[in-house]
Amino acid sequence: MIWKILYRGPLSSCNYSCDYCPFAKTKNTRAELLDDKQKLKRFVEWIKDRKENVEILFAPWGEALIRNYYQEAMTELSHLPNVKNVTIQTNLTCDTKWMSKVNKNTFSLWTTFHPSQISLEKFTEKCKELDDLNVRYSVGFVALKEDISILQKLRSLINEDVYIWANAYKRVPNYYTQSEIETIKKVDPLFDINNKFHPSKGKDCSAGNTSFSVDGDGNITRCNFIKGQITNIYSSAFEKHLKPRKCINKTCHCYIGYIHLKELQLENTYQSIWGRIPVEFRRKIKS
Ligand code: SF4
Ligand code: SF4
Repeated sequence: MIWKILYRGPLSSCNYSCDYCPFAKTKNTRAELLDDKQKLKRFVEWIKDRKENVEILFAPWGEALIRNYYQEAMTELSHLPNVKNVTIQTNLTCDTKWMSKVNKNTFSLWTTFHPSQISLEKFTEKCKELDDLNVRYSVGFVALKEDISILQKLRSLINEDVYIWANAYKRVPNYYTQSEIETIKKVDPLFDINNKFHPSKGKDCSAGNTSFSVDGDGNITRCNFIKGQITNIYSSAFEKHLKPRKCINKTCHCYIGYIHLKELQLENTYQSIWGRIPVEFRRKIKS
């Protein structure tokens, strides 16, 4: 059994300014960053003390990899024997040299390209740096109609071993034409899975059992879409509160959620659930 843990600490700042995002160009104070650092350190120490195998996704409110203490935490976690995978969501603006020290077998990046913030050429240069470092990663962004051509250009510019995910824009029902869907699927063959609201009410989901979300204080919710604290990882015998559960939401539409829906059996599709890297895009790790 492997616990799939999503960690999101109090950090809430970003060096980008995407116009739809509340964290655009926000800054944390020094005191807030210190608090975030201490909470991250405590979480890493907790992981070190666990006997269970874990896979961890860091999904910060903003950009974390521009902070040294996140780079150090990723490096340290990637070398722990019980950490089978450690991934962080990033806009890839950070320097990449520090990644030469990570364990390439366990570390991966969930990178997002932001067309309004960086040119495709500059972004793909950063991807090339990851290739040279032999770091596994996936790349993607929300496939707005006007950006479908960018998706195709991205495919032509990056390593063919790298999976490109397209998040469907779902706020407008039936947003895409069939022809647009077919075009997107030539880049992301798994687009159909993302382009729907999965009926989930009453269905078995591993969220709250073998998967859970943790905040900086150690509070656990089953997933990011059902609030209500289950327990706290820093309380004794917290694992007694993890148990098989059925979803109480009508639908689940986000990758970090529906990936845990049992009936979809997506653990067979992805070699790295948290890295969002499908089996067919498995890259050989050079030693
Ligand atoms: S990179 Fe991400 S966190 Fe930063 S402003 Fe853009 S959407 Fe928000
Ligand atoms: S199906 Fe989605 S919303 Fe429901 S419990 Fe699982 S992850 Fe949470």
